[in-house]
Amino acid sequence: MSSLFARHALLPDGWHDDVLVEWDDSGAITAVTAGAEQGGSAAARFVIPGMVNLHSHSFQRALAGMTEKAGEGQDSFWTWRDLMYRFARHITPQHMEAIAAQLYIECLRHGYTSVCEFHYIQRDPNGEMYVPRPAETAHRVIAGARTAGIGITMLPVLYTHSGFGELPLKAEQLRFRTDARDVARIIDALECERSAQVEVGVAPHSLRAASIGEIWRVLDAMPQGRPVHIHIAEQQAEVDQSLAYSGRRPVRYLLDEIRVDQRWCLVHATHLEADEIAGIASSGAVVGICPTTEANLGDGLFPLTQFMQAGGRFGIGSDSHVSQSPVEELRWLEYGQRLVHQRRNISVDGSERNVGDYLWQRALEGGAQASGRPVGQLAAGKRADLLVLDDDHPNLYGIERADALGAFIFSGNDNLVRHVMCGGQWVVRDGRHAEQEAVAQRFKETVAELRRF
Ligand SMILES: [Zn+2]
Repeated sequence: MSSLFARHALLPDGWHDDVLVEWDDSGAITAVTAGAEQGGSAAARFVIPGMVNLHSHSFQRALAGMTEKAGEGQDSFWTWRDLMYRFARHITPQHMEAIAAQLYIECLRHGYTSVCEFHYIQRDPNGEMYVPRPAETAHRVIAGARTAGIGITMLPVLYTHSGFGELPLKAEQLRFRTDARDVARIIDALECERSAQVEVGVAPHSLRAASIGEIWRVLDAMPQGRPVHIHIAEQQAEVDQSLAYSGRRPVRYLLDEIRVDQRWCLVHATHLEADEIAGIASSGAVVGICPTTEANLGDGLFPLTQFMQAGGRFGIGSDSHVSQSPVEELRWLEYGQRLVHQRRNISVDGSERNVGDYLWQRALEGGAQASGRPVGQLAAGKRADLLVLDDDHPNLYGIERADALGAFIFSGNDNLVRHVMCGGQWVVRDGRHAEQEAVAQRFKETVAELRRF
C-alpha cells in the first residue's frame, strides 16, 4: 500500500485541500481522504488526474511535421492522406512498436496517462493476415504501451471499403483490409492482453470504409460493454458523399441505422446540424475532439458551444500527433471558440465558471467513458493515474488552487507536468522517463529507415 499527500487535489466534485490518496499493489486507488493529516506520505502541492487521450494513430507520430509543404492546387486532407498511405506501405511491426513507445512516453511526460489506439494497419505489406499471430501489429503497439507504462484501449479497425456504397479498396489500402470475421479473429487473439492496464474494443473506421451491415456484424460478435469508436463527419467532402449515397448526413445516417449509446465515441463529428447535436447528446455517446489535428488538416471547427448547451459529452485526442500535449488540445479547443464567437471564457456552465477546471474535468469524464477503463478520477476503485504539477515553475509559483489549471492550460509553453503516476507506478519523475533515451534511439533508427521511402 502506498500513498501521496496533496496540499490541493482535483477530485470529481472539484478542488479539495489536504488530500491523502492511497493505492494498492494492483495500481488501484483504495481511498481518497480530504482534510487529512500529512503523516509520513510523500507530499505535493497540485495533484490532478492524468488525462485520457481518446484518439491515437500511433504510427502517424513518425510523419509529424513532414506534410507542411503545399502540393498541387488546393492542399487538403486528401493530399495529407496520400503521404500517410506511402508511409503505411513500408512500416513493419517492429517499427510500429518503436514509434508507439516513443509517442506514449511523450504523451505521459505531457500528462496523458491513458490512450485509445485506433489501429488500422493490420495486414502485412502484401495484404495478407500475419501468421501465426493475426493481431501481430496490435500486439506490438500494446508492447510499446507496456514499455512506456501507459494504459491503453486497443481498438482494432473494421476497414472494408474505400467509399460509400461498398466501393472496393484501393491498392494502397490493402494493409488495412478487414471484414467483420477478420476483426472478430483479431479481437479474439487480443483477449490474452486484457488486464488492469489494457482494454480491447473495436473501431469501424468510418461510414466510408464500413457499411452499416458490416458494422452490425461486428457489434453482434463483440463481447458486451466494450468501447466502439468511429471517425465521423470530419470533412465536408465526407458529408457530401454521405448525402449523395444515403440522402442523409453521416451522423444522422449513423444514429438512424445503429443503436448508438454510451459505449460509442464519435471521433471528430466536426460537421453537425442541430438535430445531429441533439441526437449525439441524448445517445450518451462521447465526441472525440482532436483540435490540433483538425486544425492541421483544415477539417473545420467543432460546434462546442451548441454541443455543451445540448448536454453533450466530449473528450480530447491527439490523433495524428502534431502535438502530444493535452494542454495544447484544450487551449486550441477553447481558443477556436473564442475566435469564432468573439468573446472570452466559453467552456463553462452554470455550476463551473472556471474554464481550466471545466475543460480538464469534462475531458476526463468523456475520455474515461470512451476508454472503457476505470480512469479519470481520483476516487476509490479507479486506477492510480495522476499528475503532480511543477509548483516551483514561475507560471505556477504562488498560484491559488482556483487558478492552477488556468495557469497550466493557458500560460506559456513549458511543460508544467513534473511527476506522472500511471497504475500506481511513477513513470515520470522530474520530467524524465526512465526509458526515454533508449526508446528515442530506437525511434530515430526507425524513422531513418522509413524516411528513405
Ligand atoms: Zn483518426
